[in-house]
Amino acid sequence: MSTASGILSRNDLSALFDALAARGLEVIGPTVSEGAIVLAPLDGPDALPAGWTDVQAPGAYRLHPRDDGALFGHTTPVGGWKRFLHPPTVRLFQAATTADGFTITEGAPPPPRQAFLGVRACDLTAITRLDAVFQGNPFTDPIYAGRRAGAFIIAVTCAQAGPMCFCASMDSGPDLRAPYDVALTEILESDHRFLLEAGSAEGAALLADLPLTPATDRDTAARDRQITQAADQTRALPPGTAERLGRMLDHAHWNAVAARCLSCGNCTMSCPTCFCATVEDSSSLDGATAERHRVWDSCFSLDFSYIHGGSVRESGASRYRQWMTHKLSSWHDQFGTSGCVGCGRCITWCPVGIDITEEAATFAAVDAARHPVEA
Ligand code: SF4
Ligand code: SF4
Repeated sequence: MSTASGILSRNDLSALFDALAARGLEVIGPTVSEGAIVLAPLDGPDALPAGWTDVQAPGAYRLHPRDDGALFGHTTPVGGWKRFLHPPTVRLFQAATTADGFTITEGAPPPPRQAFLGVRACDLTAITRLDAVFQGNPFTDPIYAGRRAGAFIIAVTCAQAGPMCFCASMDSGPDLRAPYDVALTEILESDHRFLLEAGSAEGAALLADLPLTPATDRDTAARDRQITQAADQTRALPPGTAERLGRMLDHAHWNAVAARCLSCGNCTMSCPTCFCATVEDSSSLDGATAERHRVWDSCFSLDFSYIHGGSVRESGASRYRQWMTHKLSSWHDQFGTSGCVGCGRCITWCPVGIDITEEAATFAAVDAARHPVEA
């Protein structure tokens, strides 16, 4: 049989973990922790969220049991894969005093190669957005590039979209639209199994080591049915948002959003493409060592836009406008794509339920009222 695709039975799933471990890959994937599905190191199939799904709404997230034992029967996990490529905190260097001065040790030890198991279409696209930021010419961030080069990506077909998902309108899903090593589709009909399809030579080599049986038309039809169903379930960002926001920078509605916004930064922390960071220095109490770390920052923090003498964006309205227009509008000018992949996390994890698609719809309605279409 071809090693480019095949069926792995649920009972043989541990063989996938074994094959990844044999390649020296640490498996990162979805698991239940503290009442949510998060991404964390997995030591085997038993760590996957079997029989759990998530229910998301603006400002709300709950786990619910499901009776079919699905392992990937949820939508977006809390946080994306960003933290494994662009860590929340990473040491840039350490300085240590010596008898005749000091020494500098650059960086931190690189992590082991990691396999990302269960990357959804929106998050797969989000990784390519981060690639453009951290590896786009002429600058390459060595911390990101090292982790990215070691990542082995096992994408997963979305069988369902959550109520916060709008990937289809952002050209980021629900079908896989960016490179991966292996695509996995979980099929629950008749017997619990996985359709595995290689997307790279390394992916094909992995599949060759697994106890696969040939995939049939029934299996690929199940995959296509899942994608169609998920696409039908997504909602949409209004068309023309990128251009519209660019010409509505002074509109009063920014103040209305800011009246609700807490400037907590949850939206930026949960977003799989927000990449802003700052540097923090610290020293040991005895003064023998000092370290500089890069840590995530947010355009919602007052200090983020601090330039000599004060912050450029002092009002909440200016900070929300900066975030939303960058994601949906000026990112196009910078990188040629949207900065938003429609994962919906910023809506779910906003404590007051501010919904980026609703705000975009409000701007569309205001714009339509200003410029009515001639009959
Ligand atoms: S802006 Fe919101 S919906 Fe878009 S990628 Fe970020 S978290 Fe997801
Ligand atoms: S939009 Fe929501 S999540 Fe983002 S800073 Fe404001 S209150 Fe926090």
